Amino acid sequence: MKSEYDAIVVGAGHNGLVSAAYLARAGLTVAVFEKRPIVGGAAITEEIWKGFKISRLSYAYSLFDPQIVRDLQLEKHGLRVVSTDPDLFVPFPERKHIFIWEDAKKTAQGFEKFSSKDAKSYPKYLEFWKGISELLGPMMLSPPPSLEDFTSVFASPETLEGLKVLMFSSVSDLLDEYFESDYVKAAICPRGLIGTMVGPKSPGSAYVLGHHVIGGSSGETGIWGYLKGGMGALSDAIAKSAESFGAEIARNAGVSSIDTQDGEVSGIELSDGTTVRAKIVVSNADPKQTFLRLVGRDKLDQNFVKGIEKIKDQGCVVKLNAALEELPDYKALPGKDLGLQHKGITSIGPSMDYCEKAFDDAKYGKPSEHPFLRIVYHSANDPDLAPSGKHTMSIFAQYFPYNLKEGNWDERKEEVGDSIIDTLSEYAPNIKRAVMQREVLTPFDMEREFSLPKGNIFHMEITPDQMFFFRPAAGWAQYRMPIKGLYLCGSGTHPGGGVTGAPGYNAAQAVLADAKRDRDLDNSQ
Ligand SMILES: Cc1cc2nc3c(=O)[nH]c(=O)nc-3n(C[C@H](O)[C@H](O)[C@H](O)COP(=O)(O)OP(=O)(O)OC[C@H]3O[C@@H](n4cnc5c(N)ncnc54)[C@H](O)[C@@H]3O)c2cc1C
Repeated sequence: MKSEYDAIVVGAGHNGLVSAAYLARAGLTVAVFEKRPIVGGAAITEEIWKGFKISRLSYAYSLFDPQIVRDLQLEKHGLRVVSTDPDLFVPFPERKHIFIWEDAKKTAQGFEKFSSKDAKSYPKYLEFWKGISELLGPMMLSPPPSLEDFTSVFASPETLEGLKVLMFSSVSDLLDEYFESDYVKAAICPRGLIGTMVGPKSPGSAYVLGHHVIGGSSGETGIWGYLKGGMGALSDAIAKSAESFGAEIARNAGVSSIDTQDGEVSGIELSDGTTVRAKIVVSNADPKQTFLRLVGRDKLDQNFVKGIEKIKDQGCVVKLNAALEELPDYKALPGKDLGLQHKGITSIGPSMDYCEKAFDDAKYGKPSEHPFLRIVYHSANDPDLAPSGKHTMSIFAQYFPYNLKEGNWDERKEEVGDSIIDTLSEYAPNIKRAVMQREVLTPFDMEREFSLPKGNIFHMEITPDQMFFFRPAAGWAQYRMPIKGLYLCGSGTHPGGGVTGAPGYNAAQAVLADAKRDRDLDNSQ
């Protein structure tokens, strides 16, 4: 590595890598410094047990922007998407189940056995989100709109209703409007709760649902897929692309400070004391770490510091990864041989009330006694991820607040791991003996090992009060930060969390636009 570059990227999460690739493609000399031994941040695959390759944190590829795939030639660098159908399997204790298919008609047919009204409403519900996606989709791969531009797209009476739902409604308000069956509502509801300290009845949760519906790896609204090689395959492909444009990536290279001189950024210092100079520093670390630790409060305007300090970021997710002897045998759809029930996401959470009660525990600092779970058996779609005949299991479980009322996370993690497996075993009794190995990643582990603040999977909550022009702080949503030359490019910027690549892309465009403006100014003098 050299001692000076045009641009330095702090952190090789997928967004940092996207920024690095676009900057290098535009001809800048770029260095990326990543604290961990591997790139990818929350989009990683690691062989934590021999022969089992685990997507340790994020598990589904759904929101990544196709334009970035094309621009960075990610398929040439190894990206392969495996789309699955059905997308979702929801078993219920009464031995009933629901599938959500790519084909909406097929899904609606399945709803018939629960409610004819809901079967008829399903296309209307999808139409609602399609309308919202058409309005908001173009705002994702671009800087956030101003408040005026944002509201102006919702000008007609019908779209204004959409704005109301998006900004102020709860998942429960929205689903009650379209559906009557508790089973149908249970199948759809958890997507509005993912990674966020909100329950189905919390205002703003409808936006969280929208966040996960808009986009889709197959180009259709809300369809999820998987990557050959797990989530790390995406990060590896972006890293290869960045390197092909000349970017250099240093691993095991934690940044301890972002340095400034005369109010402008001047470079970084690594944990081993090495300094590297650059007039542009793009931070993929979360906003609180970037400003309060790496830059330092004293170098910043105190109003800006207050805006950063009040970011809501309490994490509420536990990730349980496991190596399985055999696939789960669901009471609601028996069979241990690979079947449709093992292909997509399995959602455990039999009613909206169940999810609300799970949230109630967490509100008061307790791990949910009965959590909702989203489970993926990646090896069911990509056998290379596990030894022959064996499987991987990835459980995303909620709600587990970072701030515990009793005990600490190191003391309580295995007890919580047991409760997650107990919950699943009520639906698939063979799971307890099927687990050969497991790791439980608590919000505290996610902070300690992966630098996710308070274990927040999106760096900060994705509730409407922290999105668009409010992300990361009101007045600072354009990637450019109060110190000249310093930019943010991670999930703490518009359009927020998820494996989208969009914050990284948008930040790179801001850097390049400023560089062009500076060049034009120099030329005109
Ligand atoms: C358990 C879990 C499940 C999820 N599931 C999904 C899913 O299925 N689908 C989906 O789309 N999204 C999912 N998400 C969200 C998604 O993974 C994240 O929003 C996204 O990956 C964040 O990307 P990023 O590049 O912005 O930041 P990060 O991935 O957090 O990357 C930041 C990088 O910066 C590095 N870093 C931090 N500080 C320093 C420093 N001081 N010096 C050097 N390096 C530093 C970190 O090590 C990390 O590599 C999930 C997240 C989690 C945690």
